[in-house]
Order: sequence, then C-alpha cells, then structure tokens
Amino acid sequence: MTLRSVTVLGATGSIGVSTLDVIARHPDLYRVHALTAYQRMDKLAEQAKVFRPAVVVVPDAAARERFLTAWGEAGKAPDVHVGDAALAEIAADPGSDTVMAAIVGAAGLPGALAAARAGKRVLLANKEALVVAGGLFMDAIRDNGAELLPIDSEHNAIFQCLPHHGRAGAPTSPEKSVRKLILTASGGPFRNRTLQELRDVTPAQACAHPNWSMGRKISVDSATMLNKGLEVIEAHWLFAMPPERIKVLVHPQSMIHSMVEYDDGSVLAQLGNPDMRTPIAYGLAFPDRIDAGVGSLDLARIGRLDFEEPDLPRFPCLRLAFEALAAGQTACIALNAANEVAVEAFLCDKLAYMDIANVIESVLNGRAAAASHVDLNTLDGLLAFDADVRRWTQDELVRLSPVHP
Ligand code: NAD
Ligand code: MG
Repeated sequence: MTLRSVTVLGATGSIGVSTLDVIARHPDLYRVHALTAYQRMDKLAEQAKVFRPAVVVVPDAAARERFLTAWGEAGKAPDVHVGDAALAEIAADPGSDTVMAAIVGAAGLPGALAAARAGKRVLLANKEALVVAGGLFMDAIRDNGAELLPIDSEHNAIFQCLPHHGRAGAPTSPEKSVRKLILTASGGPFRNRTLQELRDVTPAQACAHPNWSMGRKISVDSATMLNKGLEVIEAHWLFAMPPERIKVLVHPQSMIHSMVEYDDGSVLAQLGNPDMRTPIAYGLAFPDRIDAGVGSLDLARIGRLDFEEPDLPRFPCLRLAFEALAAGQTACIALNAANEVAVEAFLCDKLAYMDIANVIESVLNGRAAAASHVDLNTLDGLLAFDADVRRWTQDELVRLSPVHP
C-alpha cells in the first residue's frame, strides 16, 4: 500500500476521533494533511500536536485565538485557516488524497462535495450530505473520477457484501442480481417503550444508545429512528437502489450491520462488534484490510441474534422519511433541515421528544410541500432551500410553544 495523506473534516467529533485512532495505528500508511473543527479548540490543538497537520480549519477568528492559546509553545503551529470557504478549499486541497467527511448535518455538504469535485477518495460518514444532495453528490463522484467509500456502518456492510468491480465509485443502476438491501436497525434506546412512556423522555435518555457511542444529534436520530430513515435515503443514492427494494429490519444486538439479498435467495451479511473503527479502517485501506483496533466478535457469548419489524406508529420519524423519499428531493431536504432544527430544540429542552416528529410533519406537509422554484441543480440552490426550511421550522417551534421559542 502507498502512503495516503488524509484530511479529516469534523476531526473532534465521534467519527473524527475514531478516524485518528485508526490512523495512529498505521504511521507507515497514513499521514494527516489537515484537521477541521467547529467547537472544542482545546481538543483540536491536542490532536494537532499528535498528528502534526499542515493546516487546521476553524470557524472564526475567536476560535483561531482559542486554538493558538491551546497550542501554546508546542513548536511551529499549523497554518490556521478560518471560515466556510476555507473548509471547502481544504477539502479540495492537493495536499491530501483522502478526505474523511465527518461533519454532522447539512453543514457537512459543501466540504464533502468539494472533496468529490476534486477527485479524492471520499470516506463519507456525513449521511446528511446525500439526503440533501444525493444526485449532485453522486454526479460529482462520477464526473471527477473520485472514489466513494460509505462509512455509515450499514452502508459499509452493504458495500462489503456487494461485488466491487475493482473500484469504489458511484453506480448508476442497481447491482445485477441483487433483490434487495436489508438495513439493520438497533431500535435505539426506546425500542420497547410504549407511546405513553415516550412522552416524557429526556435528552440524556435519548443520547444513551445501547450499542453505539456517537455524537448527540445522531444519537437522538437513532432514538427517533429518523436515523434509519436518513439511511434508507442514503442507501438509495449510494447503491442506485429503488426505495421499494430497501428494507429496514430491527436487530437489537447490532452485530449484523446490514445484508444484501440476491436473486438466488442468498443473503450476505457483514458482522462485527459495533465499533465505527471497522468501517473507517475499511474505507481507509480499501481494497486491503488493516487492523482497526477492534476485537473479535464473540458469538457464543452473545448467544442469540434477534430480529423484528420496525413499528412505525411508535417511530413516526421513520414513516416520515419513507414518505419524503417517495415525494422527492425537496421533501428530503425539508425532512433533514426540519429534523436538525427540531433535534437541536429537543437537546436544549425546548421541545418535547414526541414533538420532533410533529414539527417535521407539519413543515413537510405545510410550507415545504407548497414550495416552488427550488433549484435542485446547484449547491447554492439546495442550501437556500435548506435555509428556508430552517426558518419555517423555527416558526413552527414558536407556534408549538410560544413561551420558549
Ligand atoms: P459529532 O457531533 O460527534 O462531531 C461533529 C464534528 O463536526 C465535530 O468535529 C464538530 O466540531 C464539527 N461540526 C459541527 N458543526 C459544524 C459546522 N456547522 N461546520 C463545520 N464543522 C462542524 O458527530 P458524529 O457522531 O461524529 O457524526 C458525524 C457524521 O457522521 C454525522 O453525519 C453522522 O450522522 C455520521 N455518522 C456517525 C456515526 C457515529 O458513530 N458517530 C455513525 C454513522 C454515521
Ligand atoms: Mg448507521
């Protein structure tokens, strides 16, 4: 294997930290070109001291000061670039050949797209980029000879169960002889709660995922199962698969990360301990395999693997995602934007858990459904609509609880 130069967008997050953990195990194979972060400048400085990137990108001048203060006297500091334009520039910078897209939310789209347009190997954790801009993003991969490695564990599992034809690109039609894709879902922390019990769950309970340790936004998405809905949309784009051939199966142990069913009745699955370092290592090393620091799967100790159908009445967000995918791209953008705003409000104790779905549904069926003149062909057009939906969702929050906007 040749030495790869890696840029990590969202280095201080859960995926960013796991990525650097894998890289640290293989100093002969990977070096770090750039790191970016939005908060936690002390953490970014700590990472920069270990990995010695040429560049770090931070959101503003105040963050730059905090970074440099945290850097202190630790030798020559990396160049500190500031702002959104600098982030997209570093994603496309010739100093790296591989970009980990691990920013959370639609905010990650410009960087991921810039990496695709620059023909990089893109390790895509940021599923929201595909939900918002699936067509544009997949075209950018294809048109620029970029490589796309899905990092979301389900999609990484499916990728591993499909033939690769030697490279990781952007297919334009479903893989021959595949009948369907089966996305497994843990069911999250509230899998067994009744609707009544779901009424007063707290952010701390929603963020306590039984199997995975993740950032707060995706943890809430896992609790509502909107995460699985985003993943169905993600699978649709990644594997050019019609929605009706993508199934969701609840599997509480999270040992089977997803499956591919073929026309002859064969079902291939990828299994492993629930640790994101496995898909990250796979993406970094593809088509080779490297140690990810993940231990062996002890099936005898686990004893059994369970499966059940998802329960849409208790998890209305999953239903909303299926409906958005059927309705088309503006609905998918609206689903994602409304969810980001609603989840943030829930995490700040300004919205009840069950109202996350209510808010998304009223935005989707109200102003988003009525929207016209949405330009889906450019990044600016997509982001302008995304911003509109965020405003409408804020209005909806005020309508629901006028005292605590
Ligand atoms: P996180 O919240 O832990 O980290 C997010 C990172 O993005 C941080 O470095 C943060 O500083 C940066 N960031 C946040 N807002 C930003 C903005 N507006 N502009 C620039 N940078 C910003 O999130 P995470 O759990 O690591 O998830 C990252 C992405 O990976 C998400 O899209 C998530 O859905 C996906 N993903 C995560 C996991 C997981 O196990 N954590 C699994 C599958 C997919
Ligand atoms: Mg996932």
